[in-house]
Amino acid sequence: MHDTATVFNQHIAPRPLGGSTEAQPPVRHVCVVGGGTAGWMTALMLATSAYGLRLKVTVLESPQVGIIGVGEGSTPWLRGFFDGLGIEESEWMPACNATFKSGITFQDWSTKPGFERYFHPFASMLDNMTMHQFVDNVHERLDGADVHAHPDRFFVAATLARQARGPRPARTFPFDVWYGYHFDATLLGQFLGRKAVEHGVRHLQGHVTQVLLKEGGDIDRLQLDDGDTLAADFFVDCTGFASLLIGKALLTPFIPYAENLFNDAAIAMPTPLEGPIESQTVSTALRFGWAWKIPLTNRCGNGYVYSSAHCSADEAETELRRHLGMLDSDVSARHLKMRVGRMAKQWHRNCVAVGLSQGFIEPLEATALLFVQRTAAMLVEALENGELGPAMQDKFNETMRIRFENTRDYIVAHYKTNSRTDTDYWRANAENMNLSASLQQVLTTWMSRKPLAAGLKSGRFGQGYPIVSWYALLAGMGVFPDAADLQPPTAHQARHRMDTVDDFVQRSALNFPDHRELLANIPPRVGDKSLQLYLW
Ligand SMILES: Cc1cc2nc3c(=O)[nH]c(=O)nc-3n(C[C@H](O)[C@H](O)[C@H](O)COP(=O)(O)OP(=O)(O)OC[C@H]3O[C@@H](n4cnc5c(N)ncnc54)[C@H](O)[C@@H]3O)c2cc1C
Repeated sequence: MHDTATVFNQHIAPRPLGGSTEAQPPVRHVCVVGGGTAGWMTALMLATSAYGLRLKVTVLESPQVGIIGVGEGSTPWLRGFFDGLGIEESEWMPACNATFKSGITFQDWSTKPGFERYFHPFASMLDNMTMHQFVDNVHERLDGADVHAHPDRFFVAATLARQARGPRPARTFPFDVWYGYHFDATLLGQFLGRKAVEHGVRHLQGHVTQVLLKEGGDIDRLQLDDGDTLAADFFVDCTGFASLLIGKALLTPFIPYAENLFNDAAIAMPTPLEGPIESQTVSTALRFGWAWKIPLTNRCGNGYVYSSAHCSADEAETELRRHLGMLDSDVSARHLKMRVGRMAKQWHRNCVAVGLSQGFIEPLEATALLFVQRTAAMLVEALENGELGPAMQDKFNETMRIRFENTRDYIVAHYKTNSRTDTDYWRANAENMNLSASLQQVLTTWMSRKPLAAGLKSGRFGQGYPIVSWYALLAGMGVFPDAADLQPPTAHQARHRMDTVDDFVQRSALNFPDHRELLANIPPRVGDKSLQLYLW
């Protein structure tokens, strides 16, 4: 058996609410500029810091500049955010038309027979029972044996998604699966805003026309278009792609990722919700990018993320409409530009950038809110430790650099391993050699048929994503010897019986309810000790 480690090698660590300190905060007033999801999440985390109401938090948003209004999928880490605030799923999910997400199906990214689609699961404790069979089979297939090595049959989450089951099992079933959420981005922002105000956050409307600096270069105050100014000790830039404070005022350079992530535009369009609600995002590769399909309780969110260097906005819209069967529909489509890359420093002087202002890796794995959550958590921790000096800033910026680059690498791997040849776009992606040393090592290790586990565990390469994710991606895309070159397996190579795996996965799935039924009656979670026992 290959050394795979346990699949369940991550845990959710919500910041416990209620820690408090008598100490004075190192800054008295933090002004969060921007009232999108990033602004409100950050404000809530600041408002629930150990300083309580002694840390004054203001959110300023422009009545003239709307929020981006897309971003409907999350990773499982969002559970920790709500748990940390003591907010039940049964409260926030209906308010945001939210559904559960067991993972992502990637459709048509690969043309290899049998690998036209695969599922990237969020890990389940149950996968510990089938992970080593999967990894063993992967390595037998890499070695040329014709054994089953497509990921989907090995993971309970894939079955839950396809059978439209919700990823929360019956209480009597003692195993948890990791899951994320889908939600209406605008409703989520409004919900978080209400909660933040309940926690004492001051909410102001005002359009910033100028950022006024002190002599030393720190931000002093904000000039608003009604003539007022707003001063604070510390500023959080949540102004979206505009990066008004960290970029335009403090002149922090932006590092684009265009050399290995080509997509820079998107179109969003809703469709009616029909039939059962699958607990998954579907990402379908189209000619110049990929289309998302995200089921909410009242509609589906859809969109096309594409490269404007390879096709025009009109062409992209027509292709999306055709894909959705809406060529003749008068539902309007929203066109967006995306700035993909990161700020060279996400903490600069007395300003931290959170959200699209700090950088953005395209939404293929729905990681943006995870960045928001982690960045805001690091800021709160620094404030609670009273550490705002240059050493802390350097550490913060280096941590963010690594996180951005690790996540980028995993996303780039989807494009690099595609086998489509229908457009220049896909050929250029497959031929792209602008790969980080870390990603090159992941791919070289795989192609040389060596296990990834040792390198991933020791931190030599592929950080930021668990073993299961790398194996699901590379096996799911069919990065194996050509089928014609495979040999019938020996008895040893065929030692794992797929009917046993299927039986285990299918029987496990029976413990999970229909997704719609679960959404209609979401049981309490925060106080559910039986689940926490396994999660922490
Ligand atoms: C196509 C696409 C798909 C995405 N999908 C996902 C996904 O599936 N999952 C995920 O996690 N993320 C996703 N994202 C990212 C996600 O949308 C954002 O991370 C999230 O919405 C947070 O945005 P934000 O708050 O940083 O910015 P915004 O929502 O743009 O908010 C900016 C705020 O700044 C304020 N502002 C701007 N200028 C001024 C000014 N002059 N004065 C005062 N206020 C000002 C505005 O009023 C607004 O309140 C996606 C993004 C795109 C583009």
